[in-house]
Amino acid sequence: MKQGIHPKYFPNAVVTCATCGTTWTVGSTRESIHTDLCFNCHPFYTGEQRIVDTEGQVDRFIKKLDARATHKQQEESRKASRTSPELTVTALNLGVRAEAALAKAGVTTVGQIMDRLGQGDDGLLSIEGFGRKSLADTKKRLRSRGFELPSEAVNEPAPEAPASEAEPTEA
Ligand SMILES: [Zn+2]
Repeated sequence: MKQGIHPKYFPNAVVTCATCGTTWTVGSTRESIHTDLCFNCHPFYTGEQRIVDTEGQVDRFIKKLDARATHKQQEESRKASRTSPELTVTALNLGVRAEAALAKAGVTTVGQIMDRLGQGDDGLLSIEGFGRKSLADTKKRLRSRGFELPSEAVNEPAPEAPASEAEPTEA
């Protein structure tokens, strides 16, 4: 063997596994070796679906999933509360006059407004002091909050159809 070009050789270098603590010896140019996995604990050898997570990656991923689920849940309940029939009329900011007219007719919740809208525009217009302007405002506010108006399909024309569609065109 040529002198001076070979590293020092340790015939009994100790390998230590950080996961299971197994130690064994090998011949190496390093005196001791640390490994995260070994033949004793690697899933390939154990046949177990144990997750070896030395850097906490799985933990972090699961935390992220949890956070996402929580966020989604909050979002949904927020959305639900925005479109709850229990919502009070005052939350729609229709103005004092319209609110007073509705209150006088016993309409205090959005659910009641929806019931009346279900009977067509007259459902609300029949209320004394509640005019067309208030009706339009009410519908606008409800829509902007995400409510689906019961009479929408019947009473409202499709918003601004292009003029070309209105005129018959010859091919
Ligand atoms: Zn091991």
